[in-house]
Amino acid sequence: MPAIELRQVTKTYPGGQAPAVRSLSLAVQPGSLVTLLGPSGSGKTTVLRLVAGFERAEAGEVLLAGRLVSGDGTWVPPEKRGVGMVFQDYALFPHLTVTRNIGFGYRGPDRQARIEEMLALVDLTSYEARYPHELSGGEQQRVALARALARRPVVVLLDEPFSNLDAALRAHMRLELRRILRAANATAILVSHDHADALGISDRIVVLNDGSVEQTGSPREIFGSPANWFVATFMGQRNLLKGVVGADGRSVQTGLGTLPCPGAHAFQADDPVYACIRPDRLQVTDNGEIHGTITGLTYGGSTLDAIVDVGATPGVEQLHLQLPPDADVRAGQRVGLHVAPASVTLVPDGDR
Ligand code: ADP
Ligand code: MG
Repeated sequence: MPAIELRQVTKTYPGGQAPAVRSLSLAVQPGSLVTLLGPSGSGKTTVLRLVAGFERAEAGEVLLAGRLVSGDGTWVPPEKRGVGMVFQDYALFPHLTVTRNIGFGYRGPDRQARIEEMLALVDLTSYEARYPHELSGGEQQRVALARALARRPVVVLLDEPFSNLDAALRAHMRLELRRILRAANATAILVSHDHADALGISDRIVVLNDGSVEQTGSPREIFGSPANWFVATFMGQRNLLKGVVGADGRSVQTGLGTLPCPGAHAFQADDPVYACIRPDRLQVTDNGEIHGTITGLTYGGSTLDAIVDVGATPGVEQLHLQLPPDADVRAGQRVGLHVAPASVTLVPDGDR
Protein backbone atom coordinates (compact mmCIF):
# COMPACT_ATOMS: atom_id res chain seq x y z
CA MET A 1 0.00 0.00 0.00
CA PRO A 2 1.43 3.42 -0.92
CA ALA A 3 2.26 5.74 1.99
CA ILE A 4 0.99 8.67 -0.06
CA GLU A 5 -1.46 8.49 -2.93
CA LEU A 6 -3.14 11.16 -5.02
CA ARG A 7 -5.94 10.07 -7.33
CA GLN A 8 -6.87 12.48 -10.13
CA VAL A 9 -6.54 15.51 -7.91
CA THR A 10 -7.46 18.91 -9.34
CA LYS A 11 -6.94 22.23 -7.57
CA THR A 12 -7.88 25.68 -8.86
CA TYR A 13 -7.09 28.68 -6.65
CA PRO A 14 -9.79 31.30 -6.18
CA GLY A 15 -9.39 33.76 -9.04
CA GLY A 16 -7.04 31.39 -10.86
CA GLN A 17 -7.95 30.99 -14.53
CA ALA A 18 -6.41 27.54 -14.97
CA PRO A 19 -6.02 24.76 -12.40
CA ALA A 20 -2.67 24.80 -10.57
CA VAL A 21 -2.88 20.99 -10.40
CA ARG A 22 -4.81 19.02 -13.04
CA SER A 23 -6.15 15.52 -12.54
CA LEU A 24 -2.84 14.52 -10.97
CA SER A 25 -2.19 10.97 -9.78
CA LEU A 26 0.88 9.73 -7.98
CA ALA A 27 1.86 7.09 -5.43
CA VAL A 28 4.79 7.05 -3.02
CA GLN A 29 5.85 3.71 -1.56
CA PRO A 30 6.68 3.50 2.16
CA GLY A 31 10.26 4.41 2.99
CA SER A 32 10.96 5.91 -0.43
CA LEU A 33 11.90 9.40 -1.53
CA VAL A 34 10.05 10.88 -4.50
CA THR A 35 11.02 14.20 -6.03
CA LEU A 36 8.49 16.43 -7.75
CA LEU A 37 10.61 18.11 -10.39
CA GLY A 38 9.37 20.97 -12.51
CA PRO A 39 9.80 24.62 -13.40
CA SER A 40 8.54 27.46 -11.23
CA GLY A 41 4.74 27.62 -11.31
CA SER A 42 4.28 23.97 -12.35
CA GLY A 43 2.26 23.18 -9.20
CA LYS A 44 4.90 21.52 -6.99
CA THR A 45 4.19 23.46 -3.80
CA THR A 46 0.44 23.11 -4.38
CA VAL A 47 0.80 19.30 -4.43
CA LEU A 48 2.63 19.39 -1.07
CA ARG A 49 -0.01 21.71 0.41
CA LEU A 50 -2.78 19.37 -0.80
CA VAL A 51 -1.07 16.39 0.87
CA ALA A 52 -0.49 18.35 4.10
CA GLY A 53 -4.08 19.63 4.12
CA PHE A 54 -3.27 23.34 3.77
CA GLU A 55 -5.26 23.42 0.53
CA ARG A 56 -8.42 21.63 -0.47
CA ALA A 57 -8.79 20.00 -3.87
CA GLU A 58 -12.01 20.49 -5.83
CA ALA A 59 -11.78 16.99 -7.28
CA GLY A 60 -9.93 13.75 -6.61
CA GLU A 61 -8.73 11.96 -3.53
CA VAL A 62 -5.71 12.06 -1.22
CA LEU A 63 -4.84 8.95 0.80
CA LEU A 64 -2.18 8.57 3.49
CA ALA A 65 -1.20 4.99 4.35
CA GLY A 66 -4.42 3.88 2.68
CA ARG A 67 -6.61 6.21 4.71
CA LEU A 68 -8.73 8.73 2.81
CA VAL A 69 -7.87 12.23 4.09
CA SER A 70 -9.43 14.32 1.32
CA GLY A 71 -12.18 13.67 -1.24
CA ASP A 72 -15.53 11.98 -1.49
CA GLY A 73 -16.92 14.18 1.30
CA THR A 74 -14.03 13.37 3.67
CA TRP A 75 -11.73 16.04 5.10
CA VAL A 76 -9.03 15.36 7.68
CA PRO A 77 -7.42 18.61 8.98
CA PRO A 78 -3.63 19.08 8.71
CA GLU A 79 -2.91 18.42 12.40
CA LYS A 80 -4.59 15.01 12.17
CA ARG A 81 -2.73 13.81 9.07
CA GLY A 82 0.63 12.91 10.59
CA VAL A 83 2.48 14.95 7.99
CA GLY A 84 5.75 16.75 8.73
CA MET A 85 6.52 19.68 6.47
CA VAL A 86 9.81 21.48 5.86
CA PHE A 87 8.98 24.80 4.23
CA GLN A 88 11.13 26.47 1.60
CA ASP A 89 12.17 29.23 4.04
CA TYR A 90 12.39 26.65 6.93
CA ALA A 91 9.88 28.72 9.01
CA LEU A 92 11.86 28.33 12.26
CA PHE A 93 10.66 30.30 15.30
CA PRO A 94 13.26 33.10 15.60
CA HIS A 95 12.75 33.60 19.36
CA LEU A 96 13.19 29.89 20.22
CA THR A 97 16.43 27.97 20.63
CA VAL A 98 17.30 24.99 18.48
CA THR A 99 16.08 22.65 21.25
CA ARG A 100 12.76 24.42 21.59
CA ASN A 101 12.27 24.66 17.84
CA ILE A 102 12.75 20.92 17.50
CA GLY A 103 10.52 20.14 20.48
CA PHE A 104 7.81 22.60 19.47
CA GLY A 105 4.39 20.98 19.85
CA TYR A 106 5.88 17.68 21.02
CA ARG A 107 4.12 16.69 24.23
CA GLY A 108 5.12 13.07 24.80
CA PRO A 109 6.75 12.03 28.11
CA ASP A 110 9.92 11.28 26.14
CA ARG A 111 10.15 14.88 24.90
CA GLN A 112 13.71 15.55 26.11
CA ALA A 113 14.99 12.17 24.92
CA ARG A 114 13.34 12.66 21.54
CA ILE A 115 14.88 16.11 21.10
CA GLU A 116 18.32 14.68 21.92
CA GLU A 117 17.78 11.84 19.47
CA MET A 118 16.83 14.34 16.75
CA LEU A 119 19.82 16.59 17.55
CA ALA A 120 22.11 13.59 17.13
CA LEU A 121 20.36 12.49 13.93
CA VAL A 122 20.93 15.85 12.24
CA ASP A 123 24.38 16.22 13.81
CA LEU A 124 23.65 19.42 15.77
CA THR A 125 24.13 18.23 19.35
CA SER A 126 26.41 21.13 20.33
CA TYR A 127 24.03 23.71 18.82
CA GLU A 128 21.09 23.15 21.16
CA ALA A 129 21.19 26.57 22.87
CA ARG A 130 21.60 28.62 19.69
CA TYR A 131 18.92 30.73 18.03
CA PRO A 132 18.08 30.45 14.31
CA HIS A 133 19.93 33.69 13.43
CA GLU A 134 23.11 32.13 14.88
CA LEU A 135 22.95 29.25 12.38
CA SER A 136 24.04 28.89 8.76
CA GLY A 137 21.47 28.05 6.07
CA GLY A 138 22.42 24.39 6.14
CA GLU A 139 22.15 24.22 9.93
CA GLN A 140 18.75 25.94 9.87
CA GLN A 141 17.60 23.43 7.34
CA ARG A 142 18.67 20.55 9.58
CA VAL A 143 16.76 22.06 12.50
CA ALA A 144 13.65 22.33 10.32
CA LEU A 145 14.09 18.71 9.28
CA ALA A 146 14.59 17.57 12.88
CA ARG A 147 11.45 19.43 13.91
CA ALA A 148 9.46 17.77 11.13
CA LEU A 149 10.77 14.30 12.02
CA ALA A 150 10.49 14.64 15.82
CA ARG A 151 6.80 13.83 15.89
CA ARG A 152 7.32 10.62 13.91
CA PRO A 153 5.22 11.74 10.96
CA VAL A 154 3.78 9.21 8.52
CA VAL A 155 5.29 11.26 5.73
CA VAL A 156 7.68 14.20 5.38
CA LEU A 157 7.23 16.89 2.75
CA LEU A 158 10.20 19.10 1.81
CA ASP A 159 9.73 22.19 -0.34
CA GLU A 160 12.90 23.14 -2.26
CA PRO A 161 15.16 22.13 0.66
CA PHE A 162 18.35 23.09 -1.17
CA SER A 163 17.34 26.43 -2.65
CA ASN A 164 18.98 28.56 0.07
CA LEU A 165 22.25 26.65 0.08
CA ASP A 166 25.41 27.34 -1.91
CA ALA A 167 26.70 24.78 -4.40
CA ALA A 168 29.18 22.97 -2.13
CA LEU A 169 26.75 22.73 0.77
CA ARG A 170 24.01 21.57 -1.61
CA ALA A 171 25.95 18.48 -2.64
CA HIS A 172 26.72 17.72 1.01
CA MET A 173 23.13 18.24 2.15
CA ARG A 174 21.81 15.96 -0.60
CA LEU A 175 23.79 13.11 0.97
CA GLU A 176 22.90 14.21 4.50
CA LEU A 177 19.20 14.45 3.74
CA ARG A 178 19.18 10.98 2.25
CA ARG A 179 21.03 9.58 5.25
CA ILE A 180 18.69 11.28 7.75
CA LEU A 181 15.50 10.21 5.93
CA ARG A 182 16.77 6.63 5.64
CA ALA A 183 17.80 6.52 9.31
CA ALA A 184 14.32 7.78 10.27
CA ASN A 185 12.79 5.28 7.82
CA ALA A 186 10.74 8.21 6.54
CA THR A 187 8.59 8.39 3.43
CA ALA A 188 9.20 11.70 1.74
CA ILE A 189 8.17 13.93 -1.12
CA LEU A 190 10.76 16.51 -2.01
CA VAL A 191 10.14 19.42 -4.36
CA SER A 192 12.86 20.78 -6.63
CA HIS A 193 13.35 22.67 -9.87
CA ASP A 194 16.93 21.39 -10.19
CA HIS A 195 17.44 18.20 -12.18
CA ALA A 196 20.82 17.52 -10.55
CA ASP A 197 19.26 17.53 -7.07
CA ALA A 198 16.49 15.24 -8.27
CA LEU A 199 18.85 12.78 -9.97
CA GLY A 200 21.17 12.64 -6.99
CA ILE A 201 18.71 12.01 -4.22
CA SER A 202 15.51 10.36 -5.46
CA ASP A 203 14.23 6.82 -5.62
CA ARG A 204 11.71 8.08 -8.15
CA ILE A 205 11.13 11.35 -9.96
CA VAL A 206 7.79 12.82 -11.05
CA VAL A 207 8.27 15.51 -13.69
CA LEU A 208 5.58 18.17 -13.48
CA ASN A 209 4.63 20.75 -16.08
CA ASP A 210 1.65 23.06 -15.89
CA GLY A 211 0.01 21.07 -13.10
CA SER A 212 0.25 17.73 -14.91
CA VAL A 213 2.63 14.77 -14.75
CA GLU A 214 4.88 14.55 -17.83
CA GLN A 215 6.75 11.42 -16.72
CA THR A 216 7.34 9.24 -13.68
CA GLY A 217 10.35 6.97 -13.31
CA SER A 218 13.65 6.23 -11.65
CA PRO A 219 16.39 8.86 -12.10
CA ARG A 220 18.02 6.66 -14.76
CA GLU A 221 14.76 6.20 -16.66
CA ILE A 222 13.93 9.91 -16.61
CA PHE A 223 17.42 10.97 -17.66
CA GLY A 224 18.13 8.14 -20.09
CA SER A 225 14.70 7.75 -21.70
CA PRO A 226 12.82 11.05 -21.44
CA ALA A 227 9.20 10.64 -22.55
CA ASN A 228 9.09 13.84 -24.57
CA TRP A 229 10.82 17.07 -25.54
CA PHE A 230 9.81 18.86 -22.32
CA VAL A 231 11.33 16.21 -20.06
CA ALA A 232 14.48 15.92 -22.18
CA THR A 233 15.18 19.66 -22.13
CA PHE A 234 14.26 19.98 -18.47
CA MET A 235 16.78 17.24 -17.65
CA GLY A 236 19.43 19.36 -19.33
CA GLN A 237 19.60 17.79 -22.81
CA ARG A 238 20.72 20.43 -25.29
CA ASN A 239 21.11 18.64 -28.62
CA LEU A 240 17.66 17.57 -29.80
CA LEU A 241 17.35 17.17 -33.55
CA LYS A 242 14.01 16.59 -35.21
CA GLY A 243 14.09 13.32 -37.12
CA VAL A 244 12.36 10.12 -38.17
CA VAL A 245 13.28 6.56 -37.26
CA GLY A 246 15.15 4.72 -40.03
CA ALA A 247 13.68 1.63 -41.73
CA ASP A 248 16.63 -0.52 -40.59
CA GLY A 249 15.69 -0.04 -36.92
CA ARG A 250 19.26 1.05 -36.13
CA SER A 251 19.37 4.66 -37.28
CA VAL A 252 17.60 7.99 -37.26
CA GLN A 253 17.35 10.43 -40.16
CA THR A 254 17.91 14.04 -39.18
CA GLY A 255 18.67 17.35 -40.85
CA LEU A 256 22.33 16.51 -40.17
CA GLY A 257 22.11 13.22 -42.03
CA THR A 258 21.55 9.64 -40.92
CA LEU A 259 22.90 8.94 -37.43
CA PRO A 260 23.48 5.48 -35.92
CA CYS A 261 21.12 4.72 -33.07
CA PRO A 262 21.05 1.25 -31.45
CA GLY A 263 17.87 2.07 -29.51
CA ALA A 264 15.87 2.75 -32.67
CA HIS A 265 14.48 -0.80 -32.71
CA ALA A 266 12.18 0.18 -29.85
CA PHE A 267 10.39 2.52 -32.29
CA GLN A 268 8.52 1.99 -35.57
CA ALA A 269 10.12 2.98 -38.87
CA ASP A 270 9.22 6.59 -39.79
CA ASP A 271 8.13 7.46 -36.22
CA PRO A 272 8.65 11.18 -35.60
CA VAL A 273 11.30 11.59 -32.90
CA TYR A 274 13.96 13.87 -31.54
CA ALA A 275 17.47 12.49 -31.83
CA CYS A 276 19.20 13.40 -28.61
CA ILE A 277 23.02 13.58 -28.86
CA ARG A 278 25.02 13.70 -25.67
CA PRO A 279 27.37 16.72 -25.69
CA ASP A 280 30.26 14.63 -24.33
CA ARG A 281 29.95 12.12 -27.18
CA LEU A 282 30.54 14.55 -30.04
CA GLN A 283 34.18 14.39 -31.06
CA VAL A 284 36.08 17.02 -33.00
CA THR A 285 37.90 15.27 -35.86
CA ASP A 286 39.00 16.09 -39.42
CA ASN A 287 36.96 13.27 -40.93
CA GLY A 288 33.75 13.89 -38.98
CA GLU A 289 30.41 13.46 -40.70
CA ILE A 290 29.01 16.79 -39.48
CA HIS A 291 30.64 20.14 -40.30
CA GLY A 292 30.33 23.47 -38.55
CA THR A 293 32.00 26.50 -37.00
CA ILE A 294 32.81 26.98 -33.32
CA THR A 295 30.93 30.08 -32.18
CA GLY A 296 31.34 29.87 -28.43
CA LEU A 297 33.73 28.34 -25.88
CA THR A 298 33.22 28.26 -22.11
CA TYR A 299 35.92 26.95 -19.81
CA GLY A 300 34.36 25.01 -16.92
CA GLY A 301 37.43 23.61 -15.14
CA SER A 302 36.93 19.92 -15.85
CA THR A 303 35.34 20.55 -19.27
CA LEU A 304 35.48 22.95 -22.18
CA ASP A 305 31.96 23.60 -23.46
CA ALA A 306 31.69 24.51 -27.12
CA ILE A 307 28.83 25.68 -29.29
CA VAL A 308 29.17 24.69 -32.93
CA ASP A 309 27.06 26.42 -35.55
CA VAL A 310 26.08 23.72 -38.00
CA GLY A 311 24.51 26.17 -40.42
CA ALA A 312 21.37 26.23 -42.48
CA THR A 313 19.93 22.93 -41.36
CA PRO A 314 16.17 22.69 -40.90
CA GLY A 315 15.24 22.50 -37.23
CA VAL A 316 18.73 22.89 -35.83
CA GLU A 317 21.39 25.57 -35.95
CA GLN A 318 23.69 24.75 -33.06
CA LEU A 319 25.17 21.73 -31.35
CA HIS A 320 26.55 21.79 -27.82
CA LEU A 321 29.79 19.91 -27.16
CA GLN A 322 31.53 19.00 -23.95
CA LEU A 323 35.23 18.68 -24.70
CA PRO A 324 38.21 17.88 -22.48
CA PRO A 325 39.48 21.13 -20.87
CA ASP A 326 42.73 20.98 -22.84
CA ALA A 327 41.06 20.47 -26.26
CA ASP A 328 42.95 22.30 -29.01
CA VAL A 329 40.12 24.41 -30.44
CA ARG A 330 39.41 28.13 -30.86
CA ALA A 331 36.40 30.28 -31.61
CA GLY A 332 35.79 30.76 -35.33
CA GLN A 333 37.44 27.44 -36.23
CA ARG A 334 35.80 25.19 -38.89
CA VAL A 335 35.52 21.69 -37.43
CA GLY A 336 34.29 18.26 -38.34
CA LEU A 337 32.24 16.39 -35.74
CA HIS A 338 31.99 12.65 -35.27
CA VAL A 339 29.10 11.12 -33.36
CA ALA A 340 30.58 8.37 -31.17
CA PRO A 341 28.79 4.98 -31.26
CA ALA A 342 25.73 4.60 -29.02
CA SER A 343 25.55 8.34 -28.28
CA VAL A 344 22.16 8.99 -29.81
CA THR A 345 18.96 8.25 -27.91
CA LEU A 346 15.48 8.86 -29.23
CA VAL A 347 12.77 10.95 -27.61
CA PRO A 348 9.20 10.53 -28.91
CA ASP A 349 7.91 13.62 -30.68
CA GLY A 350 4.29 13.63 -29.62
CA ASP A 351 3.56 16.90 -31.42
CA ARG A 352 3.78 15.46 -34.94
P1 ADP B 1 5.65 25.76 -7.94
O1 ADP B 1 5.79 25.39 -6.51
O2 ADP B 1 5.90 24.63 -8.89
O3 ADP B 1 6.45 26.96 -8.32
P2 ADP B 1 2.95 26.53 -7.19
O4 ADP B 1 2.28 25.30 -6.75
O5 ADP B 1 3.43 27.47 -6.13
O6 ADP B 1 4.11 26.17 -8.20
O7 ADP B 1 1.96 27.36 -8.12
C1 ADP B 1 1.24 26.77 -9.20
C2 ADP B 1 0.33 27.82 -9.79
O8 ADP B 1 -0.65 28.22 -8.85
C3 ADP B 1 1.04 29.08 -10.23
O9 ADP B 1 0.45 29.54 -11.41
C4 ADP B 1 0.79 30.03 -9.09
O10 ADP B 1 0.78 31.36 -9.54
C5 ADP B 1 -0.59 29.61 -8.60
N1 ADP B 1 -0.74 29.84 -7.16
C6 ADP B 1 0.02 29.31 -6.16
N2 ADP B 1 -0.43 29.68 -4.94
C7 ADP B 1 -1.51 30.46 -5.17
C8 ADP B 1 -2.44 31.14 -4.31
N3 ADP B 1 -2.33 31.08 -2.99
N4 ADP B 1 -3.44 31.85 -4.91
C9 ADP B 1 -3.56 31.90 -6.25
N5 ADP B 1 -2.74 31.27 -7.11
C10 ADP B 1 -1.72 30.56 -6.58
MG1 MG C 1 7.02 26.23 -5.04
